[in-house]
Amino acid sequence: MSATALAENVLAKYEPVIGLEVHVQLATKTKIFCSCAVEFGAPPNTLVCPVCLGLPGALPVLSRQAVELAISAALALRCHINPFSRFARKNYFYPDLPKGYQISQYDQPLAEHGAVNILTPSGHKRIGVTRVHMEDDAGKSIHDGFKDSDRYTYVDLNRSGTPLIEIVSEPDMRSPDEAYSYLTEIKQMMQYLGVSDCDMEKGQLRCDANVSVRLRGAPKFGTKAEVKNLNSFRFLKMALEYEIERQVELIESGGKVVQETRLYNVETGKTVGMRSKEQAHDYRYFPEPDLVPLRVSEHWLHEIQSRLPELPAGRRERFVRQYGLREYDAEVLTLTRATGDYFETAAKVSGDGKTTANWVIGDLMGLLKAAGIDIAQSPIPAAHLGELVALIGKGELSGKLAKEILPRMFETGDSPSAIMDREGLRQISDTASLEKIIADVLAANPKQVEQLRAAKQPCSAS
Ligand code: ADP
Ligand code: ZN
Ligand code: MG
Repeated sequence: MSATALAENVLAKYEPVIGLEVHVQLATKTKIFCSCAVEFGAPPNTLVCPVCLGLPGALPVLSRQAVELAISAALALRCHINPFSRFARKNYFYPDLPKGYQISQYDQPLAEHGAVNILTPSGHKRIGVTRVHMEDDAGKSIHDGFKDSDRYTYVDLNRSGTPLIEIVSEPDMRSPDEAYSYLTEIKQMMQYLGVSDCDMEKGQLRCDANVSVRLRGAPKFGTKAEVKNLNSFRFLKMALEYEIERQVELIESGGKVVQETRLYNVETGKTVGMRSKEQAHDYRYFPEPDLVPLRVSEHWLHEIQSRLPELPAGRRERFVRQYGLREYDAEVLTLTRATGDYFETAAKVSGDGKTTANWVIGDLMGLLKAAGIDIAQSPIPAAHLGELVALIGKGELSGKLAKEILPRMFETGDSPSAIMDREGLRQISDTASLEKIIADVLAANPKQVEQLRAAKQPCSAS
C-alpha cells in the first residue's frame, strides 16, 4: 500500500468522512497570560517569567489583544460569539508543560456554530465549524543525540504561554482534497485578518485530522482515527490518503477500525498507532480558578466587527462582479492579500480588469516564480503593469512587443514608456505621422519606386 492518490474502486464503495482540528497561533506581541514577548528563534528560555514558567503562586492575566484576534477569527468563521465564556484547566503531565495543565476552554468556548465555504469541483460547499476556543501553547522539547548513552532532551519554554485558537470543524469533509481546501481557506482568512502569519514551518498553523470511512449510503459514520500534528498541506493530504486506504483495507479484510490517535511518519508516508481510546488521556477538566470568566459586550463585539477587513471570499465575489473576471482567476488573484492589492492597483491604472488579470496571472507570476520573488516585492510596480496594459489598449503597443518589454521592466524596474522611449520601440498608430514617414521613404528611394511602378504585378505585402 502506498501513499498515492486514492484508487477509484475504493472511493466507489467507501465514503471518507473527515473533520479537522486546526491550531492557529495568534499574532500578538506578548503571550496570552503574561507580558513576555512572543518571538520565534530567540535563545532558549530567555522569554520567560514566573507565569509562563508555571511557578507556584504566579497569576495569569488575559491579554486583550489575544481575545480581539480570537474574536476576529471567530467572526470571519461566521461563528456566534458567546457573551460569556470560561477558561478551563486541561490537566496532563509533559516535561514542556511546566504548570502540569494547559489553560484552555472546554464547556463554554468563546465561539460556536460557524461555517467556512470551500470551492469543490462541483461548486461551493459549506463546512461547519463546531467551535473556536482559546488556549495557551506548551513549551518545546528538543531531542538531541543518537546513541543511548548520549541522548538528551532539552526543554525550551519560550513558546510556553503563546496564544492559540483551536478551530474544530464538523465532520463535513468527504475527501482529502476538501480537507486541503478547508485548511487553505482558513490559512488565507487568518492571514487576511492579520490574526496569524500561519507560517507552518514555525508551527503557527497546525492540524489534527480525524478520519473515518463508511460504505456509501450507510446511515452512520464509521469509527474515526485521529492523525496528530500535520504540519504541512502536503502531509495533510498524504496522511489522509494513506489513512483512508488503511481503513478500507482493514474493513475489507474483515477487521475493524479502532478509535485511536495516530502519527504520520513523513519518511515512510504511513500513519502509526500512538494510543488507543483506552489509553486516551483523562484531562480532568475543571474551570480555571485563577481567571475570571470572559465577557464580550455587544459594544466590544461591534467595534471588532467594524475593524474587520474584506475577506478572501468576499473579495473573490467582488472581483468577479466588478472586473468581470472568471471565478478561477478571481481565486488566484485573492490567494494572498498582496496579490489582490497588486491586481487592483494595476487594474485601476489600466482601466481594464480582465486584461490586467491575464497579465498578472500569466506573465508576471511566471517571472516572479522563476525569480523566487513574492508579489509584494515585485520589481515591477503595479502601476507600471497597469500602464503596460493601458498602452496595449490604446494600440500604442502590440501584445507581442509588450511580452518583450515586460522582462525588461522586471530587470530594470522602469516603466514601459521609459523603456519604449529608450529603445525606440514606440508603435506609431496615428495615420498622419505614418503617412509622412511613408512619403519620406518613397522620396528617398525614387529608383525603387520607379521599379515598383513599372512592375506588371502589383507587390503584395508578405
Ligand atoms: P473526540 O471526543 O474524540 O475529541 P469530537 O466529537 O470532539 O471527538 O470530534 C473531534 C473531531 O473529529 C471533530 O473535528 C469532528 O468533526 C471529527 N469527527 C467526529 N466524528 C468523526 C467521524 N466519525 N469521522 C471523522 N471525523 C469525525
Ligand atoms: Zn511569561
Ligand atoms: Mg474533542
